[in-house]
Amino acid sequence: MAHSSHQVPADAAARRAVRPVICYPNSTLPVPDLALYRAAREGATKTGEVLAAARDAACFEVPAGHFFRITSVEGPQVGDLNLWNRDDLSERFYSGKTRALHGTHITTGERMWTSFPAMRPMATIIEDSLAWYGMDEFGGSVHDVIGTRCDPYTGNLLAGSQYHHCCHSNLTRALADHLGISLAEAEPHVHDVLNVFMCTGFTRDTGQYFMKQSPVRPGDYLEFFAEISLLGALSACPGGDCSSEHSSDTAACYPLLVETFAPSEAALEAWQSPQLNGYDQSHGR
Ligand SMILES: [Zn+2]
Repeated sequence: MAHSSHQVPADAAARRAVRPVICYPNSTLPVPDLALYRAAREGATKTGEVLAAARDAACFEVPAGHFFRITSVEGPQVGDLNLWNRDDLSERFYSGKTRALHGTHITTGERMWTSFPAMRPMATIIEDSLAWYGMDEFGGSVHDVIGTRCDPYTGNLLAGSQYHHCCHSNLTRALADHLGISLAEAEPHVHDVLNVFMCTGFTRDTGQYFMKQSPVRPGDYLEFFAEISLLGALSACPGGDCSSEHSSDTAACYPLLVETFAPSEAALEAWQSPQLNGYDQSHGR
């Protein structure tokens, strides 16, 4: 935080003591029907799987109304997740708005929201085997929407490095390969992630973004319901469990498994994919 030479006002304590108000009370958010989703998941059948190799990424597609599960395999590993509307890549995961609506970390019953002007739920978390973790004494929790993704530009800025297996680059290569486009065409589509399994927070004294060793163990998983048809990309972060450093080949890294599941025919007859946001986009003109 910036230092200031300004004088502390006489009523500083009183001003600091004002109670916060929640920016976006979420009591009017549409509530996902978890009971319906879970019933549909009960009768679902597996349709495919893909492995994101250590320090690399993989793409996967999930039709609207289907499910996908991300699982830690072989060793503790965090993942960086990007999601797009499969039919329109300009509609993609909006980390900042998801944070504003749900808080710094998301879990069961909460949703990943899309960018303007669509701004609708794209995926709903239906199971989280790390939900028990809650928030620790440092203010750390799992599955954050506060980080961006590890990237070679920040590494270069801070250390002059040329490292090629940051999540940003992994996601860029995976998307380019999946769509048959160039790296230059793919890179602008890569966006701020959901940090799957990563344990993060902000220090209370300096407000700095921190990470700590993830509580994830092989077998832990995070499962989603696809509210719209999705293209996903998942990177197995070079930080491994993020206990020490990222943006290098130093940490022990493991793959991440993504599995997709289709519900049985009639399971979701009562369900509809979310509409586009209702704002008319006239912006006062
Ligand atoms: Zn990363």
